[in-house]
Amino acid sequence: MSNCPILWFCAKHGAPIPWHSWRRRPGTRMAAGPGMVLVRRGLYLGGAEAGSAPGALEAAGVLALLSVDVEEPAPPPPGVWTLHVAARDEPGADLLSHLDTCVAFLAAARAAGRAALVRCHAGRSRSAAVVAAYLMKSEGLRFTEAYAAVRAVRPEAQMNAGFVWQLELYEAMGCRVDASSALYKCYRLQRLAQQHPELQGLPREVFAVDPTNTCPASNNEALYRCRKCRRSLFHSSSILTHAEGSGPAAFAHKRIKDPAQRRNDGQDKCSSFFIEPVQWMEPALLGVMEGQLLCPKCTLKLGSFSWHGGQCSCGRWVTPAFQIHKSRVDGIQALPIGGFQTVKT
Ligand SMILES: [Zn+2]
Ligand SMILES: [Zn+2]
Repeated sequence: MSNCPILWFCAKHGAPIPWHSWRRRPGTRMAAGPGMVLVRRGLYLGGAEAGSAPGALEAAGVLALLSVDVEEPAPPPPGVWTLHVAARDEPGADLLSHLDTCVAFLAAARAAGRAALVRCHAGRSRSAAVVAAYLMKSEGLRFTEAYAAVRAVRPEAQMNAGFVWQLELYEAMGCRVDASSALYKCYRLQRLAQQHPELQGLPREVFAVDPTNTCPASNNEALYRCRKCRRSLFHSSSILTHAEGSGPAAFAHKRIKDPAQRRNDGQDKCSSFFIEPVQWMEPALLGVMEGQLLCPKCTLKLGSFSWHGGQCSCGRWVTPAFQIHKSRVDGIQALPIGGFQTVKT
C-alpha cells in the first residue's frame, strides 16, 4: 500500500522534516541529485534515475515521491509519501483525469514542508506535464507560462502533443477537472473515438439516458422534443456549449484564427445544438464515422453526426459533432408552479 494516497494523512509516519530547515542546516546539501532538477523550492522533476542512488532522496530532502509510469516504482524509503499514476507517454494516454489528484498530492506535501520529486521514465513528458499542471494551479500561470518555467530548468522537457492538449483543456476548465463540463465531455468523446476506431461496442455510459426512460421534469432541466411528433430527445444538460471564451481546446484540430469570426461567435449565431450522444442514437452510430440523425419515432431529419467534428453556423468546429438543428426541436421547461413553458431556441 506504499502508493496509497491515504498515506498523506497517516500519522504513523510522524512529523516530516521541513525542506526549508534542511536548507538552513549547516552541512546539508539542497542541490538536485543525478537526473533531477529543482523547479521551485521543494519541488523537483526528474527521470527514472532521479533519486535512485542510495541516499539521493535524503540528500535532497525529498519526502514525497510522485511517479507517473506504467510500472509501479520500487518501494521508497520509510516515511516518504508516494503517489503512483499509471500512464504511458502516449498522446492517447489520459493524464487529465489524474491531474487534480497529482496537484493535491504536491500541494499537501509542500504545505507539510516535504520536498517533492515528480518523476517518469525519461523526465521529459509525463513528469513535465504534471509539474506544469501544478504550477498552473498553484501560481495561476497560463499553460504556456508553466511549460516555459519547466523548460527553463529542464530544457529537454518535451510533452507529447496529447498532453499539451490536455493541459490546454485543464487551463480552460480553470485548473479543475469538471467531469460534467462540456469541455471534459468533448475530451472523453474524442478519446473514445481514438480507443474504439471501429466504433463498435462503445461503452454504455457514453450515451446520455434516453429522456423517454426518465421521470419527466424531475429537475430544472429543459427537455427538447421532436418538433413534428413531440418525441422527447434530450435534456439541456446534454448540450455541449461552445460559446466564445469556453477555450480553444475542444476544437484543437481546426481552430478559427480570424478575430472577426470570433467576435461574431455568439449563441444567436448558432443554428444547431451540439449534444452528447443519447441512447436513441446508438443504432445510427454503430460502426460509422458520420451520418444522419433521425427522430427515432417519426424519422424526421434532426441533424447529423461526425466523429471527426463538424462546423457550427457560427464558425466554430466542434469535435466530435452530434448536431441537432434548432429548427427541428422544441424545448420545454417545467415551471415551479406546475405546467410547462416553451424554451426559446
Ligand atoms: Zn455555434
Ligand atoms: Zn419525430
